[in-house]
Amino acid sequence: MNDPAALRIAHQARYGVEPHVYVAPGRVNLIGEHTDYAEGFVMPAAIDFATLAAISPRTDGRIVIFAQNFDEERSWPIDELPSERSKHWSDYPLGILSILAGEGYQLPAFSLTLWGDVPLGSGLSSSAAVEVATITAVTGLMGVTIPGPQIARLSQRAENEFVGANCGIMDQFISANGAADHALLLDCRDLSFRLAPIPDSMALVIANTMVKHAITGGEYATRRAEVEEACRILATHRPEIKFLRDATVEDLAQWGHEIPPDAFKRARHVITENNRTVAAADALLANDMATLGRLMHQAHVSYSQDFEASCEEADTMVELAQDLPGLIGARLTGGGFGGCTVNVVEKDKAPAFARALADRYQKATGIAPQIHICHASAGAHRIS
Ligand code: ADP
Ligand code: MG
Repeated sequence: MNDPAALRIAHQARYGVEPHVYVAPGRVNLIGEHTDYAEGFVMPAAIDFATLAAISPRTDGRIVIFAQNFDEERSWPIDELPSERSKHWSDYPLGILSILAGEGYQLPAFSLTLWGDVPLGSGLSSSAAVEVATITAVTGLMGVTIPGPQIARLSQRAENEFVGANCGIMDQFISANGAADHALLLDCRDLSFRLAPIPDSMALVIANTMVKHAITGGEYATRRAEVEEACRILATHRPEIKFLRDATVEDLAQWGHEIPPDAFKRARHVITENNRTVAAADALLANDMATLGRLMHQAHVSYSQDFEASCEEADTMVELAQDLPGLIGARLTGGGFGGCTVNVVEKDKAPAFARALADRYQKATGIAPQIHICHASAGAHRIS
């Protein structure tokens, strides 16, 4: 796994200067899916897959970035940085530099070596890890301290405005603000957050279904429109409902018959998911793993049946985990239609759990899954 000492040596060999090394983690969302744009709650944990960034100053007025994973270097004079994306890995660090410059920071000349072991494009947010590692390293070199929530906002803007990906705040927020052995309950309305301990006896087993279904007909846009339609109808009765975050299951019971059936189901998912997410944080704080597991299972059923954002393979992966020794709870995590499931599993049973789940999934689907045993890790920081 990741080796800051090796990166330090590689950077020094390449650029002749000893660097400072920073780390920013990927993440997994334990519960709270499609609640962020309803100004609701999510509860991710940072994981021990991460991006490392080694940085040292230069004297030639250039910014040089080497991506070890791609064995590729890009270099520009400071005042000639590209102002537009090129659909290349360098968009992510350049997006950060563009946002920092736009905020009025004077960028220094530097060499930056990036390396990461967050699997790319698997829904564990390698992109946020690269962004947060870059901004932490660059501001560290500048001697500027930016609070974690602000780091998250700037990194999200880099991805939205420069890279051109319409992501929410969760990935960058947890990468910047995660804490070892904790999940983080984030209120997407005001970015206030609460840490909830994950017992040392638990592992986070992330199971990649290896499928990502291309969804046709703008499913995301349709889901969002349905959620907004339901919100609008409820707000005609209670104007204080600005987002579904403000609505309750009682509101749904009272006025749900006015909402078209699909929009009603989407709304029921979002409203109950918000409640489950807060309850899941409370369960962790009370060390009540049985309740956490039950909430995760309910969340999966709701995501699959009401939000209709699961798929056969993900439902299979969750189903096959149910009777394996050590399982606390399992659900599909991330944007949906494939990707990974997250399983909270007793740590001493996690290796056998992972082997058995891989075996069962391959027999059932013919697909060999990738299964990772992870632990909740610290947010971005400098490695001394
Ligand atoms: P994910 O779900 O992993 O965030 P994205 O498509 O959002 O998937 O981001 C993946 C992209 O991020 C990669 O294609 C690459 O351009 C960039 N990236 C991720 N990790 C690294 C890395 N270690 N070095 C350079 N670029 C990286
Ligand atoms: Mg991403």
